[in-house]
This record gives sequence, C-alpha cells and structure tokens, in this order.
Amino acid sequence: MGKDITMPDSHLFGPLPSRRLGLSLGINLLPHKTCTEDCIYCECGSTTRLDCQRQEFVPLSELKQELKSFLETQPRLDFITFAGSGEPLLYSRFGELVDYLKEHWPQHPICLLTNGTLLTDRSLWAECKHLDLIVPSIDAASPEIFQRINRPAAGIDIRSVLSSLAEFSQQFTGEIWIEVLIVPGVNDSPSELQAIASACQSIRHQRIQLGTVDRPGAVTDLPRASGKQLQDIARHYFPAAQIVSRPEPGTTPSQADDTHLCDSEMEKALHRLLQVRPCTKEDLVSTIGKGKQRQVQRVLQKLEREGFIVCHKGFYRWCR
Ligand code: SF4
Repeated sequence: MGKDITMPDSHLFGPLPSRRLGLSLGINLLPHKTCTEDCIYCECGSTTRLDCQRQEFVPLSELKQELKSFLETQPRLDFITFAGSGEPLLYSRFGELVDYLKEHWPQHPICLLTNGTLLTDRSLWAECKHLDLIVPSIDAASPEIFQRINRPAAGIDIRSVLSSLAEFSQQFTGEIWIEVLIVPGVNDSPSELQAIASACQSIRHQRIQLGTVDRPGAVTDLPRASGKQLQDIARHYFPAAQIVSRPEPGTTPSQADDTHLCDSEMEKALHRLLQVRPCTKEDLVSTIGKGKQRQVQRVLQKLEREGFIVCHKGFYRWCR
C-alpha cells in the first residue's frame, strides 16, 4: 500500500452513477468532514467541523489544474457536481470555480448539492447564478425537527433558510430539484410533512425527489422508509414527487471496461469512491466496470484484511 492511498490525492471523485444525476463527476472542496449541519443520516459520517465560516480550503489553482487534467480527457459525463465531505458553499472561491468551468467546459452541466443554509447570505446568490442545477435538501420545516434531523451549527434558523430559498428561487434561472429525505419516526409526522410540503410549494422548482436512508449514516441503524411508505407520503403531500432509490445492481451506467488497472491503481480507485460514501460491491463494479468484477473483489478483500476498509451489512466504508 503506497502512501498516496491513505492521503486523499484528488478532489475529484467518480464519475459515479448517481441515483439523481446519471453519470456524475464529483468535486469535493472541503476537508472531511466540514459542514454547516451534522445530519443524522449523512453518508460521510459525523461532522467534525460544524461551522458557517467560508474558507479557501484547497487552493483554487490546484482545483483548476486537477479539473483541467481530467476534463481534457473528454470523459462521458451527465453532470459535474459539487458535493463531497460537507456543504460546498463553504468554499470561499466557489463562484470563481464555477465561472472557470463554464468558461472552459460549457458543454458540461454543473450541479450543486446543498443544504441551503448559506443562501441566507445574499452575496452568495451571484456565485450560484451560472449553475445549471441546484439540489437543496429539505428534511424539516420546524425548528424542533430541524434540530433533530439536521443538527445545524449555532445560529441557523430553518425558517430563515426556507424563506431565503424561496426568494432565491425566484431569480435563479437554472433548475431546482428539491430533495426530501424521510427518516421514519423523525420527520414523517403529518404536521411536519405538511410543513415541508408547504415550504416546497413556496420555492420555485422543477422536481421534488423523495428518498430515504439508503446507506449507513452518521447515526447507525437508522430506519428506512419502505417503498410503500414513500408512495403514501408522495400521494398525500408531494403528488408530483419522484421516488428515488439506490440504483439496482447492474442497472447503472458503467465506465469503459477496456482500461487496464493494475492492483495499486484499483486500490486508488476504490479509495476515491469509498472515502466519499459507503458502497456495495455491486456499486463499485458498476462504476469501475463490469469486466473488473473479480479484480474489485480481490482488492476489496486485500484492503479489508489490511484494515483500510470495513464492511457492514454489505456496505464497504473507508476507515483510515
Ligand atoms: S447530509 Fe449534507 S448537509 Fe447533512 S451533514 Fe452531510 S454533507 Fe452536511
């Protein structure tokens, strides 16, 4: 195992098959795990830096160089997505990076996954104006449930976040897809669902996507809603919502199988994927290439033996 596999050497991950976005190249702008919230279901684990202070966590020049090297290979992509180990808008040069991508690779739509908390600051609206798609997550509308499910940094008021999102949406020209994640017993009471639905109605949006806990989160063994529960919730509160679930094995797009990877390159590829979120073996094979199933299996076993990954209920997670 080389040194570079234990130290993240890239701020890009994927392209990954995303349940929402197709084949998506992720950009992580933050050190693990930096966010304005500490959601109980977060696939990246617990927030260790719970803060609203924006910073240039990675030099902008480094990010530009990395993107240039990758995008010059002309990869097949449906989206470039700001996501990763926390809230992307905490990166203080976010707008400059978006503008750089739009100037040099305008053919790739850009998406931001956000919890929306920083959009209470109107000065950030200009940094978002060239995005093609924003996916804000709204899991609560009342302060009490917001505290329980999203566990925000001090001073964040969900009512002000929701009213800012509503106002922002009226002047944003890209698409907005709202994501609502249901954790049974936490945010699925009729009154909370009604309040979330009302908040969504006040935000100009093209889609609502309804999901549940798909992978191990910051709090272990959270319940997940069944397909029927999600359908019932959609019917009563979000009639136009799409129900999104983790891609079935073998149904997601794959990268080309014809690129040879030696085992140490495979270790790096697995590291990049697993440091972002827990994945099943099928997720990994689907992303890396179906022709590499045996190699993925062999390298996973090696990494598990050496203590770099753990497997819990079929999900592999990077643990060093
Ligand atoms: S789910 Fe998103 S908003 Fe919540 S803690 Fe994780 S990165 Fe932050």
